[in-house]
Amino acid sequence: MVKQTEKEGSLMSQPYYRPTFIQIDLQAIKTNIKHLKEILPESTKIMAVVKANAYGHGAIEVANAALQAGATQLAVATPEEALQLRDAGIIADILVLGASPISFLHIAAERNITLTAYSFEWLFATRHFTKPFKTHIKIDSGMGRIGIVQEEELQAALAFIKERDWIEITGVYTHFSTADEEDEHHLKKQIAVFERMLHLFEQRPAIVHTSNSAATLRISDQHWDAVRFGISMYGIAPSPWMEENLPFPLISALSLHTEVVHVKRVKKGATIGYGATYTATSDEWIATLPIGYADGFLRKLHNQFVLIKGKRMPIVGKICMDQCMIRLDEQVNIGEKVVLLGKQMNEEIRIEEWANALQTIPYEICCTFSNRLPRLYSK
Ligand SMILES: *Cc1c(COP(=O)(O)O)cnc(C)c1O
Repeated sequence: MVKQTEKEGSLMSQPYYRPTFIQIDLQAIKTNIKHLKEILPESTKIMAVVKANAYGHGAIEVANAALQAGATQLAVATPEEALQLRDAGIIADILVLGASPISFLHIAAERNITLTAYSFEWLFATRHFTKPFKTHIKIDSGMGRIGIVQEEELQAALAFIKERDWIEITGVYTHFSTADEEDEHHLKKQIAVFERMLHLFEQRPAIVHTSNSAATLRISDQHWDAVRFGISMYGIAPSPWMEENLPFPLISALSLHTEVVHVKRVKKGATIGYGATYTATSDEWIATLPIGYADGFLRKLHNQFVLIKGKRMPIVGKICMDQCMIRLDEQVNIGEKVVLLGKQMNEEIRIEEWANALQTIPYEICCTFSNRLPRLYSK
């Protein structure tokens, strides 16, 4: 399928043969960032969150696109993810949001990777490392995950840092647990806790940041110095409630494609797939698609539809590891284009629809697409 690669204007150099792929619209990502910039105060920086391979979209490509569109720094979850970006030649500031082991500290310092100081204990464990390194202090204001909860612990941490001028506190941050919900009660409480903790700093660090996508899009005046823009950079609302309350329309970047590889007419009574769970109720056209649960097209999606010629066609039978079957309303050619997620003509299947079917959130679906699916990038 090198032909496809060229036609889609991909940045991928490897040829692929199976006509199943994820298409990433980098312009959509850039436009979402541009629209965000328009509503943020000029002094508020955008930190593009590209953890988990940029929510399945491809970390290096998304990071570069985000930086081109005006994001000035990047956030990832793990040391490995930070190194992947550095190895790709990205020089922007990178913050590791998760807990990094102290064994990574000397590499972080060498490669200008900022780590999260999430407890006094973590800071104390750095005491034998006396070269300059950068960290952001994480306050747990009510998420209950990582971060400093008690004022005394923060005071001890600040006293520890004060005696060590090689520790560079370039930021302080917290994370909200309910910013995507209509009820603001817990969010307001978290903001108040964070502000109280900020008062303990003699000198406020350069980059104070609190807001994930949900908080970024719902409150305009509480962003401090930077926002951590994740899910909505990819064009996805953080929650159904947020979807109804967006300050600008989001453009989704990801679509999922395949082609019909086999078409047949089956007789009434024919069964389809493992377990013979589907029986044709009349003579029917059945097509086979080369995508299955090993790609992230999960078995629980068996009641879903796919788009062919701009129309919804139902999946029939169980989704296999590498293939699945659909029922057609007419014969189609081998090679007919199929959209599993995204737009085709006037019809669209959105990731939220899958999220409902799977009783999960779009975040999880993005991260579930396997490496077997090539990501193609349109410019
Ligand atoms: C993942 C993450 C974000 C981004 O959240 P979105 O809801 O995707 O915008 C921000 N901050 C932290 C600490 C995170 O772990």
